[in-house]
Amino acid sequence: MTDAIPLSLPDITDDDVQIVVQTLRSGRLSIGPQVEALERLVARRTRRTHAVAVSSGTAGLHTALLALGVGPGDEVITPAFSFIASANCVLHAGARPVFVDCDPGSLNMRLEDVEAAITERTRAVIGVEVFGNPSGMRHLAALCARYEIPLLEDACEGLGGRCGDDPIGAFGRLAVFGFYPNKQITTGEGGMIVTDDDRLASLCRSIRNHGRGANTPTNPMETPASLGSWLEHERLGYNYRLNELSAALGVSQMQRLDELIERRQMVADTYTRRLLGHPDLILPTVEPGTFMSWFVYVVRLSDRFTRVERDEIIEGLRRHEVGAANYFPAIPQQPFYRRVFGYSPGDFPCAESVSHRTIALPFFTRLTAREIDLVCQTLELMIQRTTFRRS
Ligand SMILES: *Cc1c(COP(=O)(O)O)cnc(C)c1O
Repeated sequence: MTDAIPLSLPDITDDDVQIVVQTLRSGRLSIGPQVEALERLVARRTRRTHAVAVSSGTAGLHTALLALGVGPGDEVITPAFSFIASANCVLHAGARPVFVDCDPGSLNMRLEDVEAAITERTRAVIGVEVFGNPSGMRHLAALCARYEIPLLEDACEGLGGRCGDDPIGAFGRLAVFGFYPNKQITTGEGGMIVTDDDRLASLCRSIRNHGRGANTPTNPMETPASLGSWLEHERLGYNYRLNELSAALGVSQMQRLDELIERRQMVADTYTRRLLGHPDLILPTVEPGTFMSWFVYVVRLSDRFTRVERDEIIEGLRRHEVGAANYFPAIPQQPFYRRVFGYSPGDFPCAESVSHRTIALPFFTRLTAREIDLVCQTLELMIQRTTFRRS
């Protein structure tokens, strides 16, 4: 029996541990030099003027929608095939999500369907680089520009990817990254909003900090004279601040971003080489000229497999101590969305068909070639068993 292979594992080095411990000892635990350093690093990497660190990707999406003025009565176009936060943030802002089906190749929103979903109430479009794939983002940005609707890029799965020379995070009026432990870099929990717009950046800073003025000094404990403005709240805000310990981990991880992405690319390439040509599997495809920043490695069973069979295969993998998951169930088919909005099966055919057949395989930087081979052997065996059971 070999050791279990998890679905995901953060890449934490001694340097990461060191900087967090040093920060803890510094006495400055909320907005301070580490948050500012992380903001500078992400802004530079995505070639944006401003970066605003927040406590999660979802907090960043909520903040960005509020900064854009999205509220009750508004519609926001968002993908049917994504992680639930891409739609929940719209509800957090009091607006209505309008779902758009995916392209069966890239799994990103279909452009024609986005255009068809635009109404006079559309206040924003949320574009997601699904699994880190930037395919179609340039066209989506152009479409939004043509209709003068702001694009909010939910780039939570794509840090480090690019279309030609344009980095993921540079397409939207605002873009948001997520730093949950399974992402390209992690801060434990955390996120980052980036934009070139001074007014929006300043609004985001205020919203994440209880609605305080954007120029409020950040540490009243260090500068007693600033306590006055620290207690002045200009608008309804939230506590979406990122703490210094998390930010310090982010700074350390960000300095290794290229290395982390390269390792992930190697793991993805090893899977692809190993599984290429399997008659029952559809592998992820990357459009020429685009560089995917791999968030997860997700294979799809061919159409002759049912959802029940896919679930059996995932169960079989787990029984053999191989992490596997059904990334992602189509959002409108989630129990909450079905109950509240009355969606029924068949409303988003592509997202549903894809979501019934996906299998996310173990994916992280330290996955070895031997482990990948073991995962693939187990996967092949489980597929064989399922096919055999039919006959
Ligand atoms: C990870 C992720 C988020 C943000 O998740 P948090 O857990 O709130 O950081 C948002 N959108 C997508 C598409 C994601 O994958």
